[in-house]
Amino acid sequence: MIKDNIKEVRANLQEGVCLVAVSKYHPIEAVKEAYAEGQRIFGESREQELRIKYECLPKDIKWNFIGHLQTNKVKYIAPYISLIESVDSLKLMKEINKQAEKCNRIIDILLELHLATEETKSGMLPAECMQLLDGNEWREMKNIRICGIMMMASATNDESKIRKEFKQADELFNRIKEQYFRDDVAFSIKSYGMSNDYLLAQECGSNHVRVGSKIFC
Ligand SMILES: *Cc1c(COP(=O)(O)O)cnc(C)c1O
Repeated sequence: MIKDNIKEVRANLQEGVCLVAVSKYHPIEAVKEAYAEGQRIFGESREQELRIKYECLPKDIKWNFIGHLQTNKVKYIAPYISLIESVDSLKLMKEINKQAEKCNRIIDILLELHLATEETKSGMLPAECMQLLDGNEWREMKNIRICGIMMMASATNDESKIRKEFKQADELFNRIKEQYFRDDVAFSIKSYGMSNDYLLAQECGSNHVRVGSKIFC
């Protein structure tokens, strides 16, 4: 039951850890069940699916975009998206800033980092991310706000490997915070952890977890 699953995940989370219920591929009815349980933050990875859900569901839901985002899709989500977690290029950042300006909004974003060893995973390598931030172009983008980082650990049962990746993420977060966002309280989100590893992620400093299958089955 979705209701029981949400309760279980919440009971495992420390105070201050934000739960994003990842509802991608799950029907409107499933989101409604989680909503009835008080859940208000949901994660989606496809623009079209998100659009349909956004239109049908209550407007106090906060929608987070967590999948690969094509620049030509940004304009569709810009009017309402709450947080874009999967920002992996300067080009995408520029487009989000442009569309946010058109909507007269400031859109919160996370920098997606690639720390897993699988090539299939998306995101920027640490060096690419630092290069982007060193470029300073982002400082002129007044309609986006960089709020932290997002990453996915390798899909493996090797707990020590996953732990190492989360630790690496947390060290990077601290380095980026120190170097570029020291006086910026908004830069605070550490989005690591999914259904199989959210407890480990929390242990390693994550304050924002994205849980899908554990809630929706
Ligand atoms: C699908 C997805 C999740 C949720 O994964 P589960 O294993 O179902 O919890 C989290 N983050 C991202 C980026 C995803 O694409």
